[in-house]
Amino acid sequence: MNIQENVSLKLYSTMRLGGTARYVCSVTSEEDLLEALEFATKNNIPHRIIGSGSNIIWSDKGFEGLVIVNNIASVTFHDDTTVTFGSGHSWDEAVLITTDKNLSGLETLSLIPGTVGATPVQNVGAYGQEIANVITELRAYDTQTKEFVNIPGSDCQFGYRTSRFKTTDAGRFIITSVTFKLSQQAPTPPFYESLQAYLDKNSITEYTPTTLRNAVIAIRSSKLPDPSQTANNGSFFANPIVPKKQYDNLIAKYPDIKSWELPDGSYKLAAGWLIEKAGFSGIHDSETGMATWPGQNLVIVNENATSTHQLITFKKKIVDKVKELFDVTLEQEPELLP
Ligand SMILES: Cc1cc2nc3c(=O)[nH]c(=O)nc-3n(C[C@H](O)[C@H](O)[C@H](O)COP(=O)(O)OP(=O)(O)OC[C@H]3O[C@@H](n4cnc5c(N)ncnc54)[C@H](O)[C@@H]3O)c2cc1C
Repeated sequence: MNIQENVSLKLYSTMRLGGTARYVCSVTSEEDLLEALEFATKNNIPHRIIGSGSNIIWSDKGFEGLVIVNNIASVTFHDDTTVTFGSGHSWDEAVLITTDKNLSGLETLSLIPGTVGATPVQNVGAYGQEIANVITELRAYDTQTKEFVNIPGSDCQFGYRTSRFKTTDAGRFIITSVTFKLSQQAPTPPFYESLQAYLDKNSITEYTPTTLRNAVIAIRSSKLPDPSQTANNGSFFANPIVPKKQYDNLIAKYPDIKSWELPDGSYKLAAGWLIEKAGFSGIHDSETGMATWPGQNLVIVNENATSTHQLITFKKKIVDKVKELFDVTLEQEPELLP
């Protein structure tokens, strides 16, 4: 296994910012992973597993440890509907493999950048599906007990854009494969509002995993920047959830506030709407070199910033204004490392 020294971390985040990593290596098997961990232990340095870097931002001070880039890719079908992907497998290619087999469960998660192994970390979701609904089990190396374990989906503590891998057990497990149970039943409405609108507009009445995948790809391509062309991490802010009392105060003041009632009676607010009202729609901030993506205020793009400090400065402008106007704190979705 080749371990590189003093590597720019800009290459390992789709926001293309950050300092230098002391060491970087790529792993393609569980054996490689153990070798990489042994290197970190021997050198008494921290390690960090990453996939494609589409949900991380590296700090300017860099990482005085070993960045392990996950390329453990494999596909195993156990029966007609149960499939295990190696965690370094490209996520979108994994979705394509399942839709090509006419399997439903992942199709509206098409074109989300990244690897299979990162999807459980924040319970990846889009257009009404999230992986919590279809993961049966994952395999991971437990860095505490130093053994490989199988964790059932029901033990992952999945929530809205979260799981135990992001909260109570952050950094503890290195996921090496994920198993999904999919369905041979055709997807049935109701679909997510904007997805249904696209289907109607394009007179698509045959609902298959492939027609839905193609619809999602068309919608996403028309409104989201491609991280290979434009540096970004997708949605930079999660939609904030507020208690009913706060929601009632907000709706009285802003009757057009965009929101969704949740089963527990709280409300999820559209962060994009809050950002728009705070005056940050399609903003190009010359001070920081950062911008919000036209029509998608939630997406912050790096136009010509050279430091993570500039990104944080821009983020603070948005967060502070939203807080001042609505008394709501926007939480950052991509993780700032280390
Ligand atoms: C344009 C764009 C659109 C996006 N749209 C969506 C969307 O619709 N929905 C959504 O949920 N997300 C979305 N994202 C966010 C991102 O694509 C997902 O979070 C994705 O799963 C991250 O994958 P990655 O391989 O790039 O992970 P990375 O960014 O490399 O890592 C993310 C986190 O997971 C950890 N991690 C990575 N691999 C492993 C592993 N094998 N074991 C344990 N921990 C691991 C890392 O340490 C880090 O904490 C979008 C991002 C972009 C740039």
